[in-house]
Amino acid sequence: MGKEYQVSIATLTDYHLQDFIRCPYQFYFHHIEGKNTTQQNWRKMVQLVINQVVSRYYKLPPANQTAKKVMELIDEHSRVMDVRQFDSKIHYYRALAKITDYLIKFLTSGKNEYPPLFLYEKFNMVISELGTDLSLILDVAEWSSNSFIIKKFLVDTNEEMTVLFIHMISVFCQKAFGRLPERMEIISLMDGKMKTYIPTMNDVSDGLEYLNIIKSLLQNPKEYSKTDCLTVCNSCSYRERCNEGIHINLESITIQ
Ligand code: SF4
Repeated sequence: MGKEYQVSIATLTDYHLQDFIRCPYQFYFHHIEGKNTTQQNWRKMVQLVINQVVSRYYKLPPANQTAKKVMELIDEHSRVMDVRQFDSKIHYYRALAKITDYLIKFLTSGKNEYPPLFLYEKFNMVISELGTDLSLILDVAEWSSNSFIIKKFLVDTNEEMTVLFIHMISVFCQKAFGRLPERMEIISLMDGKMKTYIPTMNDVSDGLEYLNIIKSLLQNPKEYSKTDCLTVCNSCSYRERCNEGIHINLESITIQ
């Protein structure tokens, strides 16, 4: 190819990094080449429903925070989901059943006497060690006796995604608030698993190193690789496009 292709990063965002970690090729097609297919990704649709349900649930008075209310909220918000966005009708009904079961389990398991500190709040700040802004959404932050607890409600997650969130949240909280959360709870609603993590200051330095590495990888599309996870490929809108490979025809692009 002979040319140097450069991706500049204005802001490292959680959704860019999530997509990149899931599959660098998918990230390229969606965020760099901009070839959106008409087909929506089922995972993004389900995540949207989860975010809306969790947000509305936490805004309810404590007496109204019940399993019945969770089901009503899911029923209301899931109406926008198109069955055709899923692999099959069975896949759609299974996904809906799982998020219903596990949202009821995780949302109703404790008493929320006080409103959350943050609820789906988007933060942005310059991180000089990264040379970019860092932007992330804190799903739910609750007061605790010593500081605060961050909860993240995801459709699904894997080890790499969990590591990404631990690093991003550690770096961000230390830089923005001058303190780390007492703990993080990363909840995967497709399998009902919750990863609890207690961060330390090592996670801040490790996180900066990790984010700098990811940033370098992101900036070099020529080195992007395909995921080897079949589950991710099976729900990817770019399967046909992917067979053609990446044809880099951009000399420079800035990811905002
Ligand atoms: S089909 Fe698989 S490898 Fe290709 S872009 Fe989609 S997720 Fe990535």
